Amino acid sequence: MAAADGGGPQQLTLEPQHELRMEVDWGKQVHLQLVSGQAEVFGTALDLGERVSIGGQKVAVFTWEGCTLQMDGEPDMMYTSDETPMGQYVSIHDVLDARRQEALKAKGEGPRTFVVGPTDVGKSTLCKILLNYAVRSGWAPTFVDMDIGQGSITVPGCIAATPVEAPIDIEDGLPVDAPLVYYTGTPTPSDNPALYKHLVDRLANVLDARAQSDAQVRASGLVVNSMGWIVELGYELLKHTVQALKCDVVLVVGDERLYSQLSMELKRSSPSTQVLKLARSGGVVVRSRELRAQARKVRVEEYFYGYRKELSPASQTARFDELQVYRVGGGPRAPTSALPIGATSVADPLKLSRVANPQELLYTLLAVSHAPQPELLLSVDVAGFIYVQDVDLAKGTITYLAPCAGPLPSPLLLAGSFKTYLD
Ligand code: ADP
Repeated sequence: MAAADGGGPQQLTLEPQHELRMEVDWGKQVHLQLVSGQAEVFGTALDLGERVSIGGQKVAVFTWEGCTLQMDGEPDMMYTSDETPMGQYVSIHDVLDARRQEALKAKGEGPRTFVVGPTDVGKSTLCKILLNYAVRSGWAPTFVDMDIGQGSITVPGCIAATPVEAPIDIEDGLPVDAPLVYYTGTPTPSDNPALYKHLVDRLANVLDARAQSDAQVRASGLVVNSMGWIVELGYELLKHTVQALKCDVVLVVGDERLYSQLSMELKRSSPSTQVLKLARSGGVVVRSRELRAQARKVRVEEYFYGYRKELSPASQTARFDELQVYRVGGGPRAPTSALPIGATSVADPLKLSRVANPQELLYTLLAVSHAPQPELLLSVDVAGFIYVQDVDLAKGTITYLAPCAGPLPSPLLLAGSFKTYLD
């Protein structure tokens, strides 16, 4: 990288197939402009002269052909590298692209790609790159995010899907006009694995139905991101997702053991599934537990306030007895006499119970359900979320933050169990 220094904006030159990696903390901004050549951020092309702001992000500006960039501001960390996995990623894209074209001709299903691996190996980044390359080739793939710890489509605690029809915006992230969202209510699937599986199955059914109704969507296929929990129950949940979503391409990033385990098992259980291994990119930044927790909070803030604080959420008060808030799990045990001989009684993990004490909802997110009645709360997706800011037991009211003013689309709400403290 050649940099012309002078205090103000700097010009940086990148050689072909190099990337400029930079980290910019939350609350700070660095502006980048493509002066000449070609460059992209995780598959999203920069237009010549376009100025993009990087803030609270760790990104790489990659160039196939070489480029000159103008940078304004001070990243917290910045360096260039020519050791990138982009060559491998573009080969995978080419294979997926050929599969999509075949699918379109044959009116069949396009590739359903599942990206798996431990945390911080670049799974989400690979998903972005594959989605962007697909869009740039004229497809409209569906992005499915199973990483309930971070929740890139709406808020943490959700499994969700959204069609991607335009390159992912470098500043604003994924466009999410009509996401399909199911709320598990927790960022940790071990809290209720049966619920997690149940919601994955629901999501899979709806995605199948959507694919049937549109040939282009069907041929474009899915790109599915996973959580980084790859052992024990985490591994079981990964296998469940492969089956439920009928994934036929599994990309294992940065873990030889997981690769060999999955390729062996899937060879037996779903022989048509291709399992490929990929190395972790050297640019991926490892995040501490605290940073992950902070990222969760930022996701919730972004949901209500927007990426650039451009949204104006409304704080509203409602009588608690006019709302119907339910929680999942912890249902009563069936009496042993009611069970077949030898079976043990366990609490029904999908049992719904109505929340009687609003105090327990303070600082939690409630999903506003599309369900017409409480019994269907776990079968139907959610419309959006509200955040409980205050509870007044004496008046019997709760004060909540909603994305917009006006009455809630439904009084039927699903409670989550994790608390987020918004300032
Ligand atoms: P995972 O999904 O496996 O946990 P991510 O894809 O979220 O990992 O990557 C972790 C962090 O590293 C993210 O902040 C991402 O933007 C950053 N990152 C990924 N690849 C690069 C790269 N080549 N250069 C700089 N930062 C990167």
